[in-house]
Amino acid sequence: MTIASDPLVTSQRISTAVEAWLDAHQQAQLMIGNRWVPAQSGKTFESINPATENVLAHVAEADRADVDDAVKAAREAFDSGPWPRMSSHDRARVMRRFGELLEEHADQLAELETLDNGMTIGASKAFFKVGMESYHFFAGQATVVMGHTMPSAEGMFNYTRREPIGVVGGIIPWNAPIVSALWKIAPAVACGNTIILKPAEQASLTCLYLGELAIEAGFPAGVINVLTGFGPGAGSALSEHLDVDKISFTGSTEVGKLILQASTGNLKRVTLELGGKSPNVVFADAAVEEAVPYALAAFTTLTGQACGAGSRLFVQRELKDEFVEKLAQQVAGLKIGDPLDPATTLGPLASREQFDRVSGYLAAGKEGGAIAKIGGEALAGGGYFVQPTIFDGVDNSMRIAREEIFGPVLSVIPFSDEDDAVFQGNDTTYGLGASVWTRDVSRAHTIAHRLKAGMVWVNTYLELDPTMPLGGFKIGRAHV
Ligand code: NAP
Ligand code: MG
Repeated sequence: MTIASDPLVTSQRISTAVEAWLDAHQQAQLMIGNRWVPAQSGKTFESINPATENVLAHVAEADRADVDDAVKAAREAFDSGPWPRMSSHDRARVMRRFGELLEEHADQLAELETLDNGMTIGASKAFFKVGMESYHFFAGQATVVMGHTMPSAEGMFNYTRREPIGVVGGIIPWNAPIVSALWKIAPAVACGNTIILKPAEQASLTCLYLGELAIEAGFPAGVINVLTGFGPGAGSALSEHLDVDKISFTGSTEVGKLILQASTGNLKRVTLELGGKSPNVVFADAAVEEAVPYALAAFTTLTGQACGAGSRLFVQRELKDEFVEKLAQQVAGLKIGDPLDPATTLGPLASREQFDRVSGYLAAGKEGGAIAKIGGEALAGGGYFVQPTIFDGVDNSMRIAREEIFGPVLSVIPFSDEDDAVFQGNDTTYGLGASVWTRDVSRAHTIAHRLKAGMVWVNTYLELDPTMPLGGFKIGRAHV
């Protein structure tokens, strides 16, 4: 169901710098070999502001022919250009310059990200910081990529060298483009690879801005290329391409499977970061006042469009009603509206497609017998806003508890004891994140170990650190 409402955002206060950038990019182009070019087909698509549904810019739609050009540029830069051949110290110098430029343009980048995908300006800035921590971490690694010397018989000398892979395709989603883009670019170029970045069509603009700064920083032509376009066009051409040596993909499980299939032509390497339906497990002995705000952030950060979102909240039965009551009070305190307003704590969903998808799940939750403790409706007043929703009375077998919704929708499920928490928490086809809340140190370690997820937090949620791996496993079957 949707509620007809007045538009939440009628006008936005855009800074003069970002306004000027948008004016200059009404026909945004592709970046290939440090040059800006239109798509060969001449096709473009609209970049929409999800808070207002206004068109921000027209973006070039790359397809196979443009992918060929970009791969040629990246291939040449790798096979005969200076980047993989220069000293790692020189590479690190260019990376440092890029890092400085990124920091100098932080405000504009964050604002543009908010305009393009609807994340609140607070979240934009926080995620930018996370992206920069990773960027600096990888830039710092550029000079310390070391091989090993192995023990060998006299007259023999055995050693390994760490070699760059070659041309990398980075394909990213729309929910936090800058951080995703930096996670692809930084490790690839630090090791001497070249990269073609394919942003999601729903939010391409900040990746183009990154491309401009990369040229200014002094990356040689072809080291960083940006191709805007659609998945089935540019994305699949890139993942099939025989001259691409690796695809690093972040996105949905379905597309992840397509990428793997497409990689068989040249057996390119593939790294996949996919979806989640992560359990946030709260025991009755938890520090409730600390756990509640984290449970809120776990399903409302990025308006719930976070891969690691804690979208299944398991609360020990004796604590459940009290916990849900407190959480609902905090949800009621969220300020929905203009994501550019620093006071806003919940922005719109990123696209019409996502709005329709989340609206469908709100209806499916109620049809399945779940009770909307708070929220439960989409807001049909313009802009892709939905109410943040806590579904109580959820059974882990319901659709809303099994499928990744990617919206501010929480399923609350009670559990009885440790075994029950582990059984239900693991009863999912996903294995990306999980969290356990308890004051019992022994239980914290035991449950963290038994929850099958790539990342497990204890008494916190969604903390990221560049020194920690990020990723999951276990797609396809609910192992318990
Ligand atoms: P998506 O539909 O899988 O799209 C991701 C990217 O792949 C986009 O750039 C998309 O292009 C492209 N793509 C689509 N079809 C393709 C194909 N056949 N071949 C090659 N590329 C193709 O995912 P999304 O809807 O953008 O993002 C949401 C998903 O990402 C969620 O499942 C979320 O959990 C996951 N995610 C995971 C992480 C993580 O680190 N684990 C982080 C963030 C998000 P288009 O522009 O055409 O869509
Ligand atoms: Mg998509």
